[in-house]
Amino acid sequence: MLPVDLPDAVRDALLAPLVDHHCHGVRRDDLSRAQFELLIGESRTPAPPGTTHFDTPLGAAIRRWCAPVLDLEPHVAPAVYLGRRQELGAGEVNRRLLQASGVVAFLVDTGLEAPDLLSAAEMGRHGGAAADEIVRLEQVEQDIADTAAVAVDYMDSLGEELVARAARAVGLKSIIAYRCGLDFDPSRPSRGSVIAAANRRLSDPRERLVDPILLRHLLWTAVDVARDRALPIQFHTGYGDADLDMSRADPAQMTGFIRALQPLGIPVVLLHCYPFHRQAAYLASVFPHVYVDVGLTLTHTAAGSARILDELLELVPFHKQLFSSDCYGLAEGCHLGAVYFRLGMAGALGRRVESGSGARQTPPASPTWRARATPAASTGFDRSRRPVPADFRGDAPAPARAPGAAARSPETPGRRSADRRTRIRTAGRSSRRRRGSTAGRRRPGTARPPPRWPHAATVPAPRAPAPADPPPAPRRRSARPRVARPPA
Ligand SMILES: [Zn+2]
Repeated sequence: MLPVDLPDAVRDALLAPLVDHHCHGVRRDDLSRAQFELLIGESRTPAPPGTTHFDTPLGAAIRRWCAPVLDLEPHVAPAVYLGRRQELGAGEVNRRLLQASGVVAFLVDTGLEAPDLLSAAEMGRHGGAAADEIVRLEQVEQDIADTAAVAVDYMDSLGEELVARAARAVGLKSIIAYRCGLDFDPSRPSRGSVIAAANRRLSDPRERLVDPILLRHLLWTAVDVARDRALPIQFHTGYGDADLDMSRADPAQMTGFIRALQPLGIPVVLLHCYPFHRQAAYLASVFPHVYVDVGLTLTHTAAGSARILDELLELVPFHKQLFSSDCYGLAEGCHLGAVYFRLGMAGALGRRVESGSGARQTPPASPTWRARATPAASTGFDRSRRPVPADFRGDAPAPARAPGAAARSPETPGRRSADRRTRIRTAGRSSRRRRGSTAGRRRPGTARPPPRWPHAATVPAPRAPAPADPPPAPRRRSARPRVARPPA
């Protein structure tokens, strides 16, 4: 179904399995039309009376590309599409769409985990793929702020918790763009300023962290961890929801910080980037440790995404362009991200070949996007284990679906949160013990559990069919009302 006459080498590269290096969980439950429409687009608000969010590039793309995966004709009416979704059930819909994407591994930002979203392990199981975790820094900080008693406790626990979480993850992620913007002071804040800011923070820890000093402290603490564990740090930049001040989300505004990380060799991955994807391409071209994608831009601009990918390819070194779907809530986002990535790249590369500026024998672009989602996650991936579904290639018959990948652990969102609380309590106790202090309000906990996630993801071997979806575990985290956060 690739639309242009491509050289075999280019076609093979585009049809190879993808690593989705930034995504979120999708909803495990059957959705009403109102619920479904809220997940189309970034506004998170209902469409004005008399209109529908299906009347958008993304809505049209769902009807065009996702309907056939559910055995419907392209462009069916929204009501027909949603009716079929209900008929199949959320589990089957998720399995079909995730597997149709040809994604070989999901790297899941777990900062938005909730009982109604599939966990990272469940994303892998439904998608017949590997799955690993990307740790969202601000979510770790919130957990620490909820439990720390004094500023020194806060600082010690933050470092210890990041080390513990990083041990089971393949990358870290910052949404500092949402909190204070990317034009932050790139220097590491002084210990005195952090203690003073932490004391202010702990006076009202339930507030969202927006203090630039603490956000910089969090980032530099993460830098220390990333350097020790050879992990990349992802940054939300550009396109996001209405919670974002777009004028402060241009990745070029964090050039000073990028420059400061260069001697440390920590990979910086710029996510989304649109409409600053040309700035991002520039940064990737001049800094050896910077990588980029356009993420959810592919899904939301849909038919217009080819032009954006073409603009990214104006300057970005080919081996530094990554793929992500940034799907959140709807498995449609994953499938569409993969569809438009392949279509857009086919068009851009095809034009380069046709004009004589791209080679016919070898892909003009490196196949890096297929299996090197992040530099740290690349080592364990097999590049050829799982083929792209035949229905995308346009040749029949479609292969039998890959067997569901077994979860690496039977964890559920509730279980994960409970384990996290235990780790935080344990970390706080150890730091107080070193200082001989008994201050703090943490309760006794058990020993830190052993790591459950390998450092680098590996593609699972063929497995027995996946068991039925486990029921969502009750969320046992804090009694604090959960504030909806953007799927940055
Ligand atoms: Zn995201």
